[in-house]
Amino acid sequence: MTAENIPKATAKRLPIYYRYLNILHDTGKQRISSTELAEAVQVDSATIRRDFSYFGALGKRGYGYDVDSLLNFFKQILNQEHLTNVALIGVGNLGHALLNFNFHKDSNVRISAAFDTNETIINTIEDGVPVYPISELANQLHEQQIQVVILTVPSSAAQEVAADAVAGGVKGILNFTPIRISVPDNVLVQNVDLTNELQTLIYFIDNFGK
Ligand code: NAD
Repeated sequence: MTAENIPKATAKRLPIYYRYLNILHDTGKQRISSTELAEAVQVDSATIRRDFSYFGALGKRGYGYDVDSLLNFFKQILNQEHLTNVALIGVGNLGHALLNFNFHKDSNVRISAAFDTNETIINTIEDGVPVYPISELANQLHEQQIQVVILTVPSSAAQEVAADAVAGGVKGILNFTPIRISVPDNVLVQNVDLTNELQTLIYFIDNFGK
């Protein structure tokens, strides 16, 4: 089974499964039932079983799913092993923090270009990453073959900037703004909300903590 054969709705859930399996792996958990996973990722267990069945996976009655094999499988499907350039739009407080972090060496992702409207930082290098004027977005996305952007602009600019990124060929947006941006069906948006993340963490401590 390759990524192209997986139904779109299932493919959209893969990063969610992948992320939670990573957390489980880190807590040392070796197996999980579809019911436990359903509760954690808020997808019903029948859907999870159906999704996993597309991968010929792997669950056994009374045992559940093997966390490591699922994780390895998703890693391949999600192409985690290739280096991917992404762009960051909005080099303010949050943008700076992400540039400074820049996913480090053990990851397959790096921010290779940043964009802003602020004259004092455009055409400078911030945390090792060149900051381009936003007017060069489409050009640079094309030139650097970037398909994913991280959106850290003020919410008032989010929709317009997202539309420009999509017009520049972007296929995925990691959206840190509180705005639920509208994009065409062929573009994926992953919203990041630190409050949600903290609640997830607390859920995992309560349910799977050692
Ligand atoms: P900030 O004001 O410090 O930074 C915003 C940056 O975007 C500035 O550098 C500004 O010049 C730039 N910008 C403005 N308009 C632009 C445009 N049209 N094109 C390109 N760049 C543009 O803001 P911040 O504190 O870094 O927050 C950024 C966003 O992240 C906000 O939407 C905020 O609500 C959100 N946020 C989300 C979380 C979360 O948990 N998801 C946490 C903190 C902040």
